[in-house]
Parts: sequence; structure tokens; C-alpha cells
Amino acid sequence: MDLTCDAPGLMSLEEAKKRISDLIPIVQELTLLPLQDCLDRISAADVYSPIDVPGYNNSAMDGYAFKLQDLKENGCVKLVGKSFAGNPFSRILGKGECIKIMTGAAIPEGADTVVMQENAELINKEQQDFVSFSRHPKIGSAIRLAGEDIKKGSRVVSKGKRICAADIGLLASLGCAQVSVYRQVRVAMFSTGDELMRAGDNYEAHRIYDSNRPAVVALLHKMNCDVIDLGIVPDDKDQLRKLLSRADLDADCVITSGGVSVGEADFIKEILAELGQIDFWKIAIKPGKPLAFGRLPNSIFFGLPGNPVSAFVTFHQIAADALRLMSGEIISPALILPAIATSSLKKRAGRTDYQRGICFIDATGQLVVESTGAQGSGVFSSFSESNCYIILERERDSVAAGETVNIQLFDRLLD
Ligand code: AMP
Ligand code: MG
Repeated sequence: MDLTCDAPGLMSLEEAKKRISDLIPIVQELTLLPLQDCLDRISAADVYSPIDVPGYNNSAMDGYAFKLQDLKENGCVKLVGKSFAGNPFSRILGKGECIKIMTGAAIPEGADTVVMQENAELINKEQQDFVSFSRHPKIGSAIRLAGEDIKKGSRVVSKGKRICAADIGLLASLGCAQVSVYRQVRVAMFSTGDELMRAGDNYEAHRIYDSNRPAVVALLHKMNCDVIDLGIVPDDKDQLRKLLSRADLDADCVITSGGVSVGEADFIKEILAELGQIDFWKIAIKPGKPLAFGRLPNSIFFGLPGNPVSAFVTFHQIAADALRLMSGEIISPALILPAIATSSLKKRAGRTDYQRGICFIDATGQLVVESTGAQGSGVFSSFSESNCYIILERERDSVAAGETVNIQLFDRLLD
């Protein structure tokens, strides 16, 4: 896939992401949190196991434990006791002896093999219980060895990993009660535009409801950022200047929507030039061409375009990764898969399209993708129905049904 961009004035998505990742500071403050509060936080250190898991040799089945050599010599073994999980057999197993053992119970010293109870038969030799087996096992059968899952001292969670539910289970199994994590990234967000109303306001002609802020705030919450929702600001230079300065004091990152084009009411550029170092980029993606990125005295800044689909795509493709990096997370590139387009897709060469699609496995087992229809930058409904982006390379023209296209499955942020 060619995502390079040579045309003057248009920057590739890759280039924009690279420049941003070179500039952003990673949050430095760490905090020690109780394990239960660590879901979706970023581990600030490598975590090593303080113990072996399992901590002792134990049985993988309900059955009988004995020394295989004794069974081979005698054809049966003598039943002398029991070992339960949490309640082990208390002495060393003698020659020719066996015990009944439950799953997870400790293997006594002197035993080297377990056979499941379904393959055992109790025989009563003159009032003493002996056990024989329908099949002869291999030495070590059905025994989980100490340290077989995790060796003491091995790394179980890496620095920069987003802690998931499985990590919490794993750390709990090691007796870890607290984890050192990075502080959450603080993000301030507001929308700009004289035309904007809040959801719940009475509808007024020629105005629109602000959808970018609620959508981006929802994404920020999903990313576990510390969100400062600053509402809506009209296209008024003084109010914009005041709010931006305040946001910069309170947040690590300030995000706005609207006012980054070259219209007469687009003041963001002018004000940001006064307050900090700002670049305005025309990115070679569709939707989402204009994007402002820069640094304010205390924070980094993203000016998302006003069109709702553009705002969402630029946030997801560019700002989200930047925030993840800022939060200390080590991230890997999105997984891109080839799929067959079920219908034709309109496209003009010049920018990389991030169309919205629905992918599924068809009756023949092939991964296919269907367009969600109209792809205009104001058609937000195209997002809520979709489960992937259809990425159409920069120089590609329209796509015919049956052609292979690249898709990017929606990640946990968008589902
Ligand atoms: P702008 O980038 O300010 O020129 O806005 C581009 C288009 O997006 C205009 O049609 C705006 O009305 C619309 N728009 C701007 N901000 C928002 C918002 N917060 N929610 C929904 N639509 C918006
Ligand atoms: Mg505007």
C-alpha cells in the first residue's frame, strides 16, 4: 500500500503520525494502584513473577498418585491415603503405595505419576485396598510441575502494556496486590461554531446540534483519559483565546473541533499562532483533510475538522495513537486484512480513502466487505452501522465489485 505523499501541500497519514510521535511528551508521573483499579491503565514497569506457578507439583486430574516403577513391579499399588487441594497427604509415599488424589492437590514426595480414576480399579486383597489400572501410563502423566506455567522471576507484564482483564487475573494469581501505572492523560475538549446547539436544546432553524464533542468525549472515556469537557464556544476570538489558555493550563492535550479550515469564521489558526507553535496540515486522507497539530505552552493541541465524519476519522487515525503514546502505552500498527468488495466503490485518485464498511465471511468462507453507502464527510450514520474501514490507496480510482481491497477492523475504541 503506497501511503507516501509527494504532492505539494498534502501530507501522508504516516508522515503526520511520525511527526506527532516524535514531538509528544510521555506522561511522567506514576501511581501505585490496587490491582482491581488497574483495568485499562498502562503499566509503568515490567512486572516479574515473585513465585512459581503452579507453586508445587500437583495433579491435573482426580485419580491416583504413585511411583510408576512400583506399579510395573507389582501390577498394582496399595492405597494408603488421600491428597486434596489445600489439604495434602502429610508423609512421603512408601514403596508400593499410592494415594487417592484430587485435581490441584499436591503430589506427595515418592510419587511420579497420576492416573485418572476412570482408568483405575480397586481390588480388595485380604481387607487391604489395592489399585490396578486398565492402561499403563507414562511416567509423569497428569502431573502439573511447579513453575510449568510461570517461572519465578519471569516477566509477566511489560512496561507500556495496557492492563486487560486477563492481566488482572494473572497478576492476582501471583499475589500481586498493587501495580505501578502511569497517570491518566488529561484531555480538554471543546467544539467551536456559532451554529452549534447542545443536545436537549430546542431546535432552531439554521443551527445544528454539536455531535463532535459528545463523540470525541466518548472515545476519550473509552481510552481511559481524564476528560475535561469544556462545552461549546462561539466563533469569537476573545472567548476562544480565553478558553484555549485555560484548557492549556489544565490539560496535557487540548482538542477542538471546527474552525480549522480557511473560512471567515475559522479563528483557531490565528489564536493558536499567538499562544503556541502550531502546524496546519492538509493530510492526504479522505475524509479529514485539514488537521491542526501543535504545542501550546503546557500541552499538545489537535484541531479536528468540523465535519463529523472527518473529526471522527482524524481523531481515531491520528489523535488516538498520539494519546496512547502519551499515556506510556507501547502500541503496534493496526491489522490490515485483504477482503473482496461486494459492490463497486466510488473513489478519486489523490487521497487515501477511509470509507466505512461492513465485513463478514460469506457462504464460501471468503472475507468480503460491503460499503455502508453514502460516504460524505457529514454522513455520520455510515459509522454506527460499520465494523471496518475500507482503505483505498491514494492513487487508486474507483473499485469494481470483486476487486480486493484492504480493510482495517474497528478496534476496541470504535466497537
Ligand atoms: P468548520 O470546520 O467549522 O468549517 O465546520 C465544517 C462543517 O462541520 C460545518 O458544516 C459545520 O456546521 C460542521 N460542524 C462543525 N462543528 C461541528 C460539531 N461540533 N458537530 C457537528 N457538526 C459540526
Ligand atoms: Mg465552524
